[in-house]
Amino acid sequence: HKGDRAATRRRRLGVMGGTFDPIHHGHLVAASEVKDRFDLDEVIFVPTGQPWQKAGKNVSAAEDRYLMTVIATASNPSFSVSRVDVDRHKDTYTVDTLRDLHRQHPDADLYFITGADALETILTWQNWEEMFELAKFVGVSRPGFELGIDHLADHLAGQPADALTLVEIPAMAISSTDCRLRASENRPVWYLVPDGVVQYISKRNLYRPRGAERRDGA
Ligand code: ATP
Ligand code: MG
Repeated sequence: HKGDRAATRRRRLGVMGGTFDPIHHGHLVAASEVKDRFDLDEVIFVPTGQPWQKAGKNVSAAEDRYLMTVIATASNPSFSVSRVDVDRHKDTYTVDTLRDLHRQHPDADLYFITGADALETILTWQNWEEMFELAKFVGVSRPGFELGIDHLADHLAGQPADALTLVEIPAMAISSTDCRLRASENRPVWYLVPDGVVQYISKRNLYRPRGAERRDGA
């Protein structure tokens, strides 16, 4: 029935923001599950520019994170990657991401996907009231974090019932932090991240495996 409905229904776009340093199967499963549960037409992955909550920490070049995200999503016809945050050349705030995507897709409903860990801090994000005007939010489960909205109850009181939905997804105990640590110790990241991303990490010598020669001699 998808054809009939497409004419009448607003497009539904998932928005999966992240540092993606590197992108891993936890991100991909989250996007795939939310696409299915909300019957989304597409999920747009949005790698951050310079991430403010990670200021001071070493984050790989935006271009490398963008390319890994493209490699990881290329085979899925419903996944795409946006450069809005990478090209903004300033700290990434989710509200700016949503403003830009809303401008580019004025006829679509946006569903911002966020893991349970990020959901815990959502009230500290800039302009969260405006974010709720620009998108519906979908909080997904993540091993090691409580998926709850108790801390948001007061703020959600005035919002429509579908402003924030919680979704249980298959548990993927994978983090980019652990992938970076593994790569730096020459331990495997196979099967935690897509094959092409394993190869890209190795090709670009990201996360500097201990004792490995750098090809550029630095
Ligand atoms: P890092 O360890 O560097 O913080 P990360 O694994 O948390 O990396 P991010 O790029 O920070 O990945 O996360 C992007 C989004 O994906 C966030 O909303 C985060 O909560 C969510 N996410 C990341 N990993 C998982 C996972 N394994 N299961 C569910 N959600 C996840
Ligand atoms: Mg994180």
